[in-house]
Amino acid sequence: MTTGTLISRMAEPQFRTPKGTHDVLPEEQRYMTYIKKAVRHRARQAGYKRIDPPIFEYRSIFERGIGEHTDIVEKELFAVSGKSAEADKAGTFALRPEFTAGICRAYIEHGMQQLPQPVEFFAIGPCFRHDRPQKGRYRQFHQFDLEVIGLKDPSLDAQLIHVITNIFADIRILDRLTLQINNIGTAENRKAYVQAIKDFFVGKERQLPELDRSRLETNPLRLLDSKEEDTQILVKNAPKLEQFLDEESRQFHATLLEYLDALGVSYVPNPGLVRGLDYYTQTVFEFWDSNTGAQNAVGGGGRYDGLIELLGGKPTPGVGFAGGMERIMWHMKEAGVQAPHKDQMDVFVAQLGPEAKKTCLRLIADLREKGVHSVGALGEASLKSQMRLADKFEAKFALLLGKMEVKRETIILRDMKAGKQQEVPFAGIIEKVIELLGEKNLDTYTLRDQFVGPTDD
Ligand code: AMP
Repeated sequence: MTTGTLISRMAEPQFRTPKGTHDVLPEEQRYMTYIKKAVRHRARQAGYKRIDPPIFEYRSIFERGIGEHTDIVEKELFAVSGKSAEADKAGTFALRPEFTAGICRAYIEHGMQQLPQPVEFFAIGPCFRHDRPQKGRYRQFHQFDLEVIGLKDPSLDAQLIHVITNIFADIRILDRLTLQINNIGTAENRKAYVQAIKDFFVGKERQLPELDRSRLETNPLRLLDSKEEDTQILVKNAPKLEQFLDEESRQFHATLLEYLDALGVSYVPNPGLVRGLDYYTQTVFEFWDSNTGAQNAVGGGGRYDGLIELLGGKPTPGVGFAGGMERIMWHMKEAGVQAPHKDQMDVFVAQLGPEAKKTCLRLIADLREKGVHSVGALGEASLKSQMRLADKFEAKFALLLGKMEVKRETIILRDMKAGKQQEVPFAGIIEKVIELLGEKNLDTYTLRDQFVGPTDD
Protein backbone atom coordinates (compact mmCIF):
# COMPACT_ATOMS: atom_id res chain seq x y z
CA MET A 1 0.00 0.00 0.00
CA THR A 2 1.55 3.33 -0.98
CA THR A 3 1.12 6.50 1.00
CA GLY A 4 -0.65 8.05 -2.00
CA THR A 5 -3.56 5.62 -1.77
CA LEU A 6 -4.13 6.64 1.83
CA ILE A 7 -4.62 10.32 1.12
CA SER A 8 -8.10 10.08 -0.36
CA ARG A 9 -9.34 8.32 2.79
CA MET A 10 -8.05 10.97 5.17
CA ALA A 11 -9.82 14.01 6.52
CA GLU A 12 -8.27 17.40 5.75
CA PRO A 13 -5.17 17.56 8.02
CA GLN A 14 -4.78 20.39 10.48
CA PHE A 15 -1.08 20.84 9.67
CA ARG A 16 0.72 20.62 6.37
CA THR A 17 4.35 20.97 5.32
CA PRO A 18 5.33 24.64 4.87
CA LYS A 19 5.14 25.98 1.31
CA GLY A 20 8.03 24.76 -0.81
CA THR A 21 8.94 21.84 1.46
CA HIS A 22 7.99 18.20 1.15
CA ASP A 23 8.22 14.94 3.05
CA VAL A 24 10.58 12.44 1.52
CA LEU A 25 8.21 9.49 1.80
CA PRO A 26 9.30 5.83 1.94
CA GLU A 27 8.61 5.28 -1.78
CA GLU A 28 10.90 8.25 -2.60
CA GLN A 29 13.59 7.08 -0.17
CA ARG A 30 14.42 4.15 -2.40
CA TYR A 31 15.41 6.59 -5.17
CA MET A 32 17.30 8.79 -2.72
CA THR A 33 19.19 5.76 -1.38
CA TYR A 34 19.99 4.62 -4.91
CA ILE A 35 21.41 8.03 -5.85
CA LYS A 36 23.35 8.28 -2.57
CA LYS A 37 24.84 4.82 -3.14
CA ALA A 38 26.03 5.77 -6.62
CA VAL A 39 27.50 9.04 -5.29
CA ARG A 40 29.25 7.36 -2.36
CA HIS A 41 30.63 4.58 -4.54
CA ARG A 42 31.99 6.85 -7.29
CA ALA A 43 33.30 9.36 -4.74
CA ARG A 44 35.16 6.68 -2.79
CA GLN A 45 36.69 5.27 -5.99
CA ALA A 46 38.15 8.71 -6.71
CA GLY A 47 39.40 9.49 -3.17
CA TYR A 48 36.68 11.96 -2.11
CA LYS A 49 35.98 11.99 1.64
CA ARG A 50 32.61 12.75 3.20
CA ILE A 51 32.09 16.07 4.94
CA ASP A 52 28.97 17.47 6.63
CA PRO A 53 29.18 21.21 7.18
CA PRO A 54 26.45 22.55 9.49
CA ILE A 55 23.03 23.26 8.03
CA PHE A 56 23.34 26.89 9.13
CA GLU A 57 26.39 29.16 9.03
CA TYR A 58 27.14 32.83 9.60
CA ARG A 59 25.24 34.46 6.79
CA SER A 60 28.24 36.62 5.88
CA ILE A 61 29.98 33.48 4.55
CA PHE A 62 27.29 33.15 1.90
CA GLU A 63 27.06 36.90 1.31
CA ARG A 64 30.77 37.22 0.76
CA GLY A 65 31.31 33.89 -1.02
CA ILE A 66 28.34 33.60 -3.33
CA GLY A 67 28.02 37.37 -3.80
CA GLU A 68 25.74 39.98 -2.28
CA HIS A 69 24.00 40.77 -5.54
CA THR A 70 23.31 37.22 -6.68
CA ASP A 71 19.73 35.94 -6.62
CA ILE A 72 20.73 33.28 -4.11
CA VAL A 73 21.83 35.84 -1.53
CA GLU A 74 19.69 38.82 -2.41
CA LYS A 75 16.37 37.02 -2.72
CA GLU A 76 16.70 33.44 -1.60
CA LEU A 77 18.77 33.36 1.59
CA PHE A 78 16.89 31.86 4.54
CA ALA A 79 17.97 34.03 7.46
CA VAL A 80 17.89 32.42 10.91
CA SER A 81 18.24 34.07 14.19
CA GLY A 82 20.57 32.57 16.77
CA LYS A 83 18.58 34.15 19.55
CA SER A 84 14.91 34.19 20.29
CA ALA A 85 13.07 35.57 17.28
CA GLU A 86 12.19 38.72 19.23
CA ALA A 87 15.79 39.49 20.23
CA ASP A 88 17.35 39.27 16.78
CA LYS A 89 15.07 40.01 13.89
CA ALA A 90 17.81 40.48 11.32
CA GLY A 91 19.17 36.93 11.62
CA THR A 92 22.87 36.40 12.23
CA PHE A 93 22.86 33.06 10.49
CA ALA A 94 21.46 31.60 7.29
CA LEU A 95 20.45 28.09 6.27
CA ARG A 96 22.91 26.85 3.67
CA PRO A 97 21.68 27.52 0.13
CA GLU A 98 24.49 25.27 -1.19
CA PHE A 99 27.59 23.44 0.11
CA THR A 100 30.62 25.06 -1.51
CA ALA A 101 31.00 28.15 0.72
CA GLY A 102 30.63 26.10 3.92
CA ILE A 103 33.10 23.45 2.76
CA CYS A 104 35.67 26.13 1.86
CA ARG A 105 35.14 27.68 5.31
CA ALA A 106 35.83 24.22 6.83
CA TYR A 107 38.98 23.80 4.69
CA ILE A 108 40.36 27.06 6.10
CA GLU A 109 39.14 26.52 9.67
CA HIS A 110 40.76 23.07 9.98
CA GLY A 111 44.04 24.05 8.31
CA MET A 112 43.54 21.55 5.51
CA GLN A 113 46.14 23.25 3.32
CA GLN A 114 48.57 21.14 5.40
CA LEU A 115 47.11 17.93 3.94
CA PRO A 116 48.31 16.41 0.65
CA GLN A 117 46.58 18.43 -2.10
CA PRO A 118 44.10 18.37 -3.65
CA VAL A 119 41.68 17.63 -0.83
CA GLU A 120 38.53 16.06 -2.24
CA PHE A 121 35.19 16.17 -0.46
CA PHE A 122 31.69 14.96 -1.03
CA ALA A 123 28.54 15.98 0.80
CA ILE A 124 24.88 15.00 0.61
CA GLY A 125 22.04 16.75 2.38
CA PRO A 126 19.32 19.38 2.48
CA CYS A 127 19.81 22.96 1.22
CA PHE A 128 17.44 25.90 1.52
CA ARG A 129 16.47 28.75 -0.77
CA HIS A 130 13.60 31.11 -0.16
CA ASP A 131 12.52 30.93 -3.77
CA ARG A 132 9.01 31.12 -5.22
CA PRO A 133 8.04 27.43 -5.18
CA GLN A 134 7.16 25.84 -8.51
CA LYS A 135 7.70 22.50 -10.23
CA GLY A 136 11.30 21.38 -9.59
CA ARG A 137 11.99 24.41 -7.39
CA TYR A 138 11.60 24.02 -3.64
CA ARG A 139 12.52 25.90 -0.49
CA GLN A 140 14.06 22.80 1.02
CA PHE A 141 15.71 20.48 -1.49
CA HIS A 142 18.62 18.04 -1.46
CA GLN A 143 21.96 18.28 -3.15
CA PHE A 144 24.92 16.00 -3.58
CA ASP A 145 28.12 17.93 -3.83
CA LEU A 146 31.70 17.23 -4.93
CA GLU A 147 34.65 19.56 -4.30
CA VAL A 148 38.35 19.36 -5.28
CA ILE A 149 40.42 21.95 -3.41
CA GLY A 150 44.08 22.92 -3.38
CA LEU A 151 45.44 22.36 -6.90
CA LYS A 152 44.75 23.85 -10.29
CA ASP A 153 44.97 21.85 -13.47
CA PRO A 154 42.44 21.21 -16.25
CA SER A 155 42.84 17.48 -15.61
CA LEU A 156 41.15 17.99 -12.22
CA ASP A 157 38.13 19.68 -13.85
CA ALA A 158 38.01 16.84 -16.40
CA GLN A 159 38.22 14.13 -13.73
CA LEU A 160 35.51 15.79 -11.64
CA ILE A 161 33.19 15.97 -14.66
CA HIS A 162 33.99 12.34 -15.47
CA VAL A 163 33.03 11.23 -11.93
CA ILE A 164 29.70 13.07 -12.33
CA THR A 165 28.95 11.49 -15.71
CA ASN A 166 29.72 8.09 -14.20
CA ILE A 167 27.19 8.77 -11.42
CA PHE A 168 24.54 9.82 -13.96
CA ALA A 169 25.33 6.74 -16.07
CA ASP A 170 25.05 4.46 -12.99
CA ILE A 171 21.57 5.78 -12.19
CA ARG A 172 20.74 5.56 -15.91
CA ILE A 173 19.87 9.16 -16.74
CA LEU A 174 23.05 10.28 -18.52
CA ASP A 175 21.46 9.92 -21.97
CA ARG A 176 18.68 12.36 -20.96
CA LEU A 177 21.20 15.11 -20.13
CA THR A 178 23.51 17.45 -22.03
CA LEU A 179 26.70 18.79 -20.51
CA GLN A 180 27.01 22.52 -21.28
CA ILE A 181 30.44 23.98 -20.68
CA ASN A 182 32.14 27.36 -20.84
CA ASN A 183 35.11 29.34 -19.53
CA ILE A 184 34.25 32.73 -18.03
CA GLY A 185 37.87 33.83 -17.56
CA THR A 186 39.63 35.23 -14.51
CA ALA A 187 38.19 37.84 -12.15
CA GLU A 188 40.21 40.53 -14.04
CA ASN A 189 38.84 39.37 -17.41
CA ARG A 190 35.33 39.61 -16.05
CA LYS A 191 35.93 43.06 -14.58
CA ALA A 192 36.96 44.35 -18.02
CA TYR A 193 34.01 42.61 -19.61
CA VAL A 194 31.51 43.97 -17.06
CA GLN A 195 32.77 47.47 -17.88
CA ALA A 196 32.31 46.76 -21.60
CA ILE A 197 28.73 45.57 -20.99
CA LYS A 198 27.97 48.68 -18.95
CA ASP A 199 29.39 50.88 -21.70
CA PHE A 200 27.38 49.01 -24.31
CA PHE A 201 24.12 49.60 -22.45
CA VAL A 202 24.69 53.33 -21.93
CA GLY A 203 21.68 55.00 -23.55
CA LYS A 204 19.85 51.68 -23.88
CA GLU A 205 18.80 51.37 -20.21
CA ARG A 206 15.26 52.39 -20.93
CA GLN A 207 14.82 49.47 -23.34
CA LEU A 208 15.59 47.04 -20.53
CA PRO A 209 12.88 45.52 -18.31
CA GLU A 210 13.01 46.86 -14.75
CA LEU A 211 14.69 43.83 -13.19
CA ASP A 212 17.48 43.81 -15.76
CA ARG A 213 17.94 47.58 -15.44
CA SER A 214 18.83 47.11 -11.79
CA ARG A 215 20.98 44.09 -12.63
CA LEU A 216 22.98 46.30 -14.98
CA GLU A 217 24.09 48.14 -11.84
CA THR A 218 24.54 45.21 -9.48
CA ASN A 219 25.35 42.12 -11.53
CA PRO A 220 25.58 42.89 -15.29
CA LEU A 221 26.72 39.37 -16.20
CA ARG A 222 23.24 38.12 -15.39
CA LEU A 223 21.91 40.03 -18.39
CA LEU A 224 23.55 37.37 -20.57
CA ASP A 225 21.25 34.61 -19.38
CA SER A 226 18.22 36.85 -18.80
CA LYS A 227 14.87 35.23 -19.53
CA GLU A 228 13.44 38.58 -20.73
CA GLU A 229 12.95 38.71 -24.49
CA ASP A 230 13.83 42.44 -24.79
CA THR A 231 17.11 41.86 -22.99
CA GLN A 232 17.92 38.81 -25.11
CA ILE A 233 17.51 40.87 -28.31
CA LEU A 234 19.84 43.61 -27.04
CA VAL A 235 22.39 41.10 -25.74
CA LYS A 236 22.78 39.62 -29.24
CA ASN A 237 24.78 42.71 -30.29
CA ALA A 238 26.62 43.17 -27.00
CA PRO A 239 30.34 42.42 -26.70
CA LYS A 240 31.06 38.75 -26.08
CA LEU A 241 32.79 37.46 -22.95
CA GLU A 242 34.95 35.24 -25.15
CA GLN A 243 36.70 38.31 -26.57
CA PHE A 244 37.88 39.27 -23.08
CA LEU A 245 39.43 35.97 -22.03
CA ASP A 246 43.17 36.00 -21.42
CA GLU A 247 45.50 33.50 -23.08
CA GLU A 248 45.79 31.36 -19.94
CA SER A 249 42.02 30.91 -19.71
CA ARG A 250 41.74 30.03 -23.41
CA GLN A 251 44.54 27.50 -23.11
CA PHE A 252 43.07 26.07 -19.90
CA HIS A 253 39.71 25.56 -21.59
CA ALA A 254 41.15 24.03 -24.76
CA THR A 255 43.13 21.54 -22.67
CA LEU A 256 40.09 20.71 -20.53
CA LEU A 257 38.06 19.92 -23.66
CA GLU A 258 40.90 17.71 -24.95
CA TYR A 259 40.91 15.82 -21.65
CA LEU A 260 37.14 15.38 -21.78
CA ASP A 261 37.53 13.93 -25.29
CA ALA A 262 40.19 11.58 -23.99
CA LEU A 263 37.81 10.42 -21.23
CA GLY A 264 34.95 9.97 -23.71
CA VAL A 265 32.76 12.65 -22.10
CA SER A 266 30.35 14.41 -24.52
CA TYR A 267 29.77 18.15 -24.08
CA VAL A 268 28.30 21.20 -25.80
CA PRO A 269 30.49 24.35 -25.70
CA ASN A 270 28.16 27.16 -24.60
CA PRO A 271 29.70 30.68 -24.68
CA GLY A 272 26.53 32.09 -23.05
CA LEU A 273 26.75 29.99 -19.87
CA VAL A 274 27.70 32.17 -16.86
CA ARG A 275 25.96 30.61 -13.76
CA GLY A 276 24.41 32.66 -11.03
CA LEU A 277 27.15 32.64 -8.40
CA ASP A 278 29.90 35.24 -8.15
CA TYR A 279 32.70 32.96 -7.01
CA TYR A 280 33.25 31.18 -10.32
CA THR A 281 36.39 31.72 -12.35
CA GLN A 282 37.23 30.05 -15.66
CA THR A 283 35.44 26.68 -15.95
CA VAL A 284 31.66 26.63 -15.55
CA PHE A 285 29.35 23.77 -16.54
CA GLU A 286 25.80 22.54 -16.16
CA PHE A 287 23.90 19.36 -16.92
CA TRP A 288 20.71 20.32 -18.75
CA ASP A 289 17.64 18.30 -19.52
CA SER A 290 18.23 17.54 -23.24
CA ASN A 291 14.55 18.28 -23.96
CA THR A 292 13.88 21.45 -21.99
CA GLY A 293 17.33 23.07 -21.74
CA ALA A 294 18.51 25.44 -19.04
CA GLN A 295 15.29 25.73 -17.07
CA ASN A 296 15.56 22.54 -15.10
CA ALA A 297 19.28 21.89 -14.89
CA VAL A 298 19.95 18.84 -12.73
CA GLY A 299 23.29 20.18 -11.59
CA GLY A 300 26.05 22.66 -12.14
CA GLY A 301 29.51 23.58 -11.05
CA GLY A 302 32.78 25.20 -11.89
CA ARG A 303 36.11 26.52 -10.75
CA TYR A 304 36.38 28.98 -7.85
CA ASP A 305 40.02 29.98 -7.61
CA GLY A 306 39.33 33.16 -5.61
CA LEU A 307 36.78 31.90 -3.08
CA ILE A 308 39.04 30.62 -0.32
CA GLU A 309 41.02 33.87 -0.27
CA LEU A 310 37.74 35.78 -0.22
CA LEU A 311 36.75 33.83 2.90
CA GLY A 312 40.02 34.72 4.63
CA GLY A 313 42.28 31.81 3.63
CA LYS A 314 45.49 31.74 1.61
CA PRO A 315 44.91 31.91 -2.18
CA THR A 316 43.80 28.35 -2.99
CA PRO A 317 42.17 27.07 -6.17
CA GLY A 318 39.15 24.77 -6.24
CA VAL A 319 36.59 23.19 -8.52
CA GLY A 320 33.24 21.67 -7.59
CA PHE A 321 29.77 20.53 -8.55
CA ALA A 322 26.29 20.27 -7.02
CA GLY A 323 23.45 18.08 -8.27
CA GLY A 324 19.79 18.50 -7.30
CA MET A 325 18.43 15.19 -5.95
CA GLU A 326 14.73 15.99 -6.57
CA ARG A 327 15.32 16.80 -10.22
CA ILE A 328 17.53 13.74 -10.63
CA MET A 329 14.80 11.63 -9.03
CA TRP A 330 12.27 13.05 -11.48
CA HIS A 331 14.49 12.01 -14.39
CA MET A 332 14.90 8.51 -13.00
CA LYS A 333 11.13 8.10 -12.79
CA GLU A 334 10.65 9.51 -16.30
CA ALA A 335 13.27 7.09 -17.60
CA GLY A 336 11.45 4.19 -15.91
CA VAL A 337 14.38 3.37 -13.63
CA GLN A 338 13.19 0.97 -10.94
CA ALA A 339 15.23 1.85 -7.88
CA PRO A 340 15.85 -1.45 -6.10
CA HIS A 341 14.94 -1.64 -2.43
CA LYS A 342 15.00 -4.10 0.43
CA ASP A 343 11.70 -3.15 2.03
CA GLN A 344 9.83 -6.33 1.04
CA MET A 345 8.10 -8.28 3.83
CA ASP A 346 9.13 -11.94 3.94
CA VAL A 347 6.99 -13.31 6.74
CA PHE A 348 3.79 -12.27 8.45
CA VAL A 349 3.11 -14.04 11.75
CA ALA A 350 -0.51 -14.44 12.85
CA GLN A 351 -1.54 -15.80 16.24
CA LEU A 352 -4.53 -16.54 18.40
CA GLY A 353 -4.57 -16.85 22.18
CA PRO A 354 -2.22 -15.59 24.92
CA GLU A 355 0.12 -18.63 24.75
CA ALA A 356 0.47 -18.32 20.97
CA LYS A 357 1.10 -14.59 21.25
CA LYS A 358 4.01 -15.10 23.64
CA THR A 359 5.54 -17.78 21.41
CA CYS A 360 5.13 -15.59 18.34
CA LEU A 361 6.84 -12.64 19.96
CA ARG A 362 9.94 -14.83 20.37
CA LEU A 363 9.53 -16.33 16.88
CA ILE A 364 9.41 -12.90 15.21
CA ALA A 365 12.51 -11.76 17.10
CA ASP A 366 14.40 -14.96 16.07
CA LEU A 367 13.35 -14.63 12.43
CA ARG A 368 14.55 -11.01 12.35
CA GLU A 369 17.84 -12.03 13.95
CA LYS A 370 18.40 -14.46 11.06
CA GLY A 371 17.78 -11.68 8.50
CA VAL A 372 14.15 -12.53 7.65
CA HIS A 373 11.98 -9.40 7.35
CA SER A 374 9.10 -10.21 9.68
CA VAL A 375 6.07 -8.52 11.16
CA GLY A 376 3.27 -9.92 13.24
CA ALA A 377 -0.28 -9.03 14.12
CA LEU A 378 0.02 -8.88 17.85
CA GLY A 379 -3.38 -7.33 18.42
CA GLU A 380 -6.54 -9.24 19.23
CA ALA A 381 -8.03 -9.54 15.72
CA SER A 382 -9.47 -12.77 14.28
CA LEU A 383 -7.21 -15.03 12.24
CA LYS A 384 -9.17 -14.11 9.13
CA SER A 385 -8.55 -10.38 9.50
CA GLN A 386 -4.91 -11.05 10.37
CA MET A 387 -4.59 -12.92 7.07
CA ARG A 388 -6.10 -9.95 5.24
CA LEU A 389 -3.40 -7.84 6.83
CA ALA A 390 -0.74 -10.31 5.66
CA ASP A 391 -2.07 -9.76 2.15
CA LYS A 392 -1.83 -5.98 2.47
CA PHE A 393 1.75 -6.23 3.71
CA GLU A 394 2.43 -8.30 0.57
CA ALA A 395 4.24 -10.86 2.71
CA LYS A 396 5.66 -13.88 0.88
CA PHE A 397 4.74 -16.30 3.66
CA ALA A 398 2.41 -16.29 6.63
CA LEU A 399 2.92 -18.34 9.78
CA LEU A 400 -0.24 -19.07 11.77
CA LEU A 401 -0.19 -20.20 15.34
CA GLY A 402 -3.55 -20.94 17.00
CA LYS A 403 -4.42 -22.74 20.23
CA MET A 404 -4.49 -26.13 18.46
CA GLU A 405 -1.06 -25.68 16.93
CA VAL A 406 0.42 -24.64 20.28
CA LYS A 407 -0.90 -27.90 21.77
CA ARG A 408 0.38 -30.00 18.87
CA GLU A 409 3.74 -28.11 18.75
CA THR A 410 3.18 -27.30 15.09
CA ILE A 411 2.61 -24.13 13.05
CA ILE A 412 0.79 -23.47 9.78
CA LEU A 413 3.00 -22.24 6.94
CA ARG A 414 1.12 -20.49 4.15
CA ASP A 415 2.60 -19.55 0.79
CA MET A 416 0.70 -16.31 0.17
CA LYS A 417 1.20 -16.22 -3.59
CA ALA A 418 0.30 -19.85 -4.24
CA GLY A 419 -2.48 -19.72 -1.64
CA LYS A 420 -1.38 -23.13 -0.29
CA GLN A 421 -0.70 -24.04 3.31
CA GLN A 422 0.67 -26.95 5.34
CA GLU A 423 1.04 -27.78 9.00
CA VAL A 424 4.71 -28.27 9.92
CA PRO A 425 6.59 -28.98 13.17
CA PHE A 426 7.24 -25.76 15.10
CA ALA A 427 10.78 -26.87 15.98
CA GLY A 428 12.25 -26.49 12.49
CA ILE A 429 10.17 -23.56 11.24
CA ILE A 430 12.94 -20.97 11.04
CA GLU A 431 15.20 -23.29 9.01
CA LYS A 432 12.26 -24.13 6.75
CA VAL A 433 11.51 -20.42 6.08
CA ILE A 434 15.18 -19.72 5.36
CA GLU A 435 15.29 -22.65 2.93
CA LEU A 436 12.22 -21.32 1.09
CA LEU A 437 13.51 -17.74 0.93
CA GLY A 438 17.05 -18.76 -0.02
CA GLU A 439 20.13 -17.90 2.07
CA LYS A 440 21.18 -15.16 -0.38
CA ASN A 441 17.95 -13.22 0.19
CA LEU A 442 18.46 -12.83 3.93
CA ASP A 443 19.07 -9.34 5.23
CA THR A 444 22.05 -9.81 7.51
CA TYR A 445 24.96 -7.51 8.07
CA THR A 446 28.14 -7.46 10.06
CA LEU A 447 29.66 -4.32 11.46
CA ARG A 448 33.34 -4.71 10.75
CA ASP A 449 35.99 -2.64 12.47
CA GLN A 450 39.72 -2.55 12.19
CA PHE A 451 40.39 -3.14 15.87
CA VAL A 452 43.91 -4.43 16.25
CA GLY A 453 43.95 -4.85 20.00
CA PRO A 454 45.50 -2.73 22.73
CA THR A 455 49.07 -1.57 22.26
CA ASP A 456 51.68 -0.92 24.93
CA ASP A 457 52.17 2.76 24.16
P1 AMP B 1 22.95 25.81 -8.55
O1 AMP B 1 24.36 25.71 -8.07
O2 AMP B 1 22.19 26.96 -8.02
O3 AMP B 1 22.89 25.70 -10.06
O4 AMP B 1 22.22 24.50 -7.98
C1 AMP B 1 22.67 23.23 -8.34
C2 AMP B 1 21.49 22.29 -8.55
O5 AMP B 1 20.70 22.22 -7.37
C3 AMP B 1 20.53 22.76 -9.62
O6 AMP B 1 20.96 22.37 -10.89
C4 AMP B 1 19.25 22.05 -9.22
O7 AMP B 1 19.23 20.72 -9.68
C5 AMP B 1 19.34 22.05 -7.72
N1 AMP B 1 18.55 23.17 -7.16
C6 AMP B 1 18.93 24.45 -6.97
N2 AMP B 1 17.95 25.19 -6.42
C7 AMP B 1 16.89 24.34 -6.27
C8 AMP B 1 15.56 24.49 -5.75
N3 AMP B 1 15.13 25.65 -5.26
N4 AMP B 1 14.76 23.39 -5.75
C9 AMP B 1 15.19 22.21 -6.23
N5 AMP B 1 16.43 22.01 -6.72
C10 AMP B 1 17.27 23.05 -6.75
